[in-house]
Amino acid sequence: QMPTIKGNVTFDHVSFRYEEGKNILNDVSFHINAGESIALVGPTGAGKSTIINLLSRFYDVNEGSVKIDGIDVRDVTLKSLRSQMGVMLQDTFVFSGTILENIRYGKLDATEEEIIAAAKIVRAHDFIKDLKDGYHTVVEERGSTLSAGQRQLISFARALLANPKILILDEATSSIDTKTEELLQEGITELLKGRTSFIIAHRLSTIKNSSQIFYVDGGRIAEKGTHEEL
Ligand code: ATP
Ligand code: MG
Repeated sequence: QMPTIKGNVTFDHVSFRYEEGKNILNDVSFHINAGESIALVGPTGAGKSTIINLLSRFYDVNEGSVKIDGIDVRDVTLKSLRSQMGVMLQDTFVFSGTILENIRYGKLDATEEEIIAAAKIVRAHDFIKDLKDGYHTVVEERGSTLSAGQRQLISFARALLANPKILILDEATSSIDTKTEELLQEGITELLKGRTSFIIAHRLSTIKNSSQIFYVDGGRIAEKGTHEEL
């Protein structure tokens, strides 16, 4: 079992390869204090998603270690690890059911009031209330009735309700209109409060709001710094 965490994250000399062959990550080390917001940027294939895959333990390191509050992620159950981590991927997953059910997700005891409150905080409420049946509108599995930005807002509400200490967000790259982008930015700002976060950032607004930027290139963190420094 993983005890309740604060959200300090350490990568200690981490090397990793998906299969026999060359390393995808080479000797990556960093320490993040609880509550910091990290933007991961860099070219395609650099290893950004791989860093996040190791943190959430979709894969295990080949060398070195990944620690949360000093505990090696290999020493706790996956279930207890992931229960304290919110992962929001690019292609946000929406299942067929109502918006309410989609936000409630694993938090089965959440009331309708709590769900609406979460949606309001992350700025998802305005578009939801304008849907045909509001929170009771049924969406399809691939979420085709919703735009990429709207699906991401739903995932923000879901994450806020789950209240994890560590948040992982792979920002959507699909074209999003300026108004939705503003909403997403406000939503992210609310969501990040009091949590450690790793965002694979595609938007300048997100990068600007992060406490540190990691420039990932060729399986290493080539540069680290604030937005002003880089
Ligand atoms: P992007 O910006 O395109 O998402 P990224 O920085 O997230 O890129 P990664 O997905 O971490 O890059 O990939 C790093 C390297 O690992 C790439 O060379 C990629 O081809 C390889 N790779 C990624 N996932 C796998 C996998 N499941 N099996 C084998 N190789 C993989
Ligand atoms: Mg990626």
